[in-house]
Amino acid sequence: MTFNSMNIEEFHDVWVFAEQRGGELMPAVFELISEGRRLADEMGCRLCAVLPGADVKHLAEKLGGYGADRVLVYEHELLKDYRTETYTEIIAQAVEAFKPEILLFGATNIGRDLAPRCAARLHTGLCADCTHLDVDTEGYKAFLRRESSMDVDNTNFDSPLFDAHRNLKMTRPAFGGHLMATIVCPRFRPAMATVRPGVMKLGAYSEEKAKNVEVLAPDFRLAEGDVQTDVLETVKSALKQVDLIGADAIVAVGQGIAKDVEKGLALAQALADELGGVLGATRAVVDNGWLSADHQVGQTGKTVRPKLYIALGISGAIQHKSGMQDSEYIIAVNRSDMAPIFEIADIGIVGDLFDVVPKLIEEIRKEK
Ligand code: FAD
Repeated sequence: MTFNSMNIEEFHDVWVFAEQRGGELMPAVFELISEGRRLADEMGCRLCAVLPGADVKHLAEKLGGYGADRVLVYEHELLKDYRTETYTEIIAQAVEAFKPEILLFGATNIGRDLAPRCAARLHTGLCADCTHLDVDTEGYKAFLRRESSMDVDNTNFDSPLFDAHRNLKMTRPAFGGHLMATIVCPRFRPAMATVRPGVMKLGAYSEEKAKNVEVLAPDFRLAEGDVQTDVLETVKSALKQVDLIGADAIVAVGQGIAKDVEKGLALAQALADELGGVLGATRAVVDNGWLSADHQVGQTGKTVRPKLYIALGISGAIQHKSGMQDSEYIIAVNRSDMAPIFEIADIGIVGDLFDVVPKLIEEIRKEK
């Protein structure tokens, strides 16, 4: 049967692109599988992972453990390293053959490169950098009640955009994070989205599901002669990247360290070391060149949800809060009692961070 992205009744199932690098699945994949499971359960359909690579079949079990019903494995030497053209070819062939209703990618460097190319090739829509997904309109309303100031009960949700054909409601920050926009793709399938790493909750792992996952190796066409690029060498960044997303404790600094940057950073690092945590930063700190970009938390940085987030000299701009407000416990130190960061802090300390942090470190040491 020919493929036509407008024949939306032909499309079924939720799919997740299982991004692996060097045979290791990216953490964002497990978050997407967990979220995909929730959507597939709501829709009463299957959750599938599509896994291109070379020698990657063994990864299928882990995808099953987090909730995938089925894994489509595409193995070929030409898929060993990521290349836009080969991966686009495989995803497009897979979608044309199986017709998924929803296709999710992590908003990693690879996902951000691959998803738009696939969307253009398949002639469908893509919503980039989502922070929330819903199919069920009642679930979407509950999200709006929780997260927005919208008068949900006096808003008309009867539009076919919401219910007809189970449209995926893809929510993402817009206009510099000052408002959230929900986007639907009503006329084409699959509905495609990239999702920011760190925003979706990781579900529980089940050994039983891992063992029972269905693994398929569908036919595909890929020939050396079709590929225009060659990977000669992969050079890893010499800089040690900060693992903000995996950290249990983050001590983040803002422009409040300006009066003595070196001392401010040393104090924050000492506090992070006491807690076994890592340093984070606002964009202002990164723009000033005080810390590298991989430390940045927020809308254009990373989204984190550690057990403990300590914000030192951070005002609490909406673009910063959107990346850390789901942290389990937030402590903020700011010399202004009007700082918006206090609105979301569990504990707020009004004071100069250069006085407060040494005392915090002293107290922690006493407790140890
Ligand atoms: P400031 O807003 O200058 O706040 C400094 C705070 O330190 C103040 O509240 C002050 O009272 C306090 N202070 C000063 N001295 C001391 C002291 N000695 N002790 C204690 N407190 C002190 N920002 C991000 O963080 N992440 C993003 O991803 C991001 N993305 C953006 C995307 C867009 C499109 C735009 C437009 C902006 C973005 N921003 C982002 C920038 C954001 O709007 C803010 O400008 C930024 O977060 C402010 O950083 P800050 O809190 O360090 O600085």
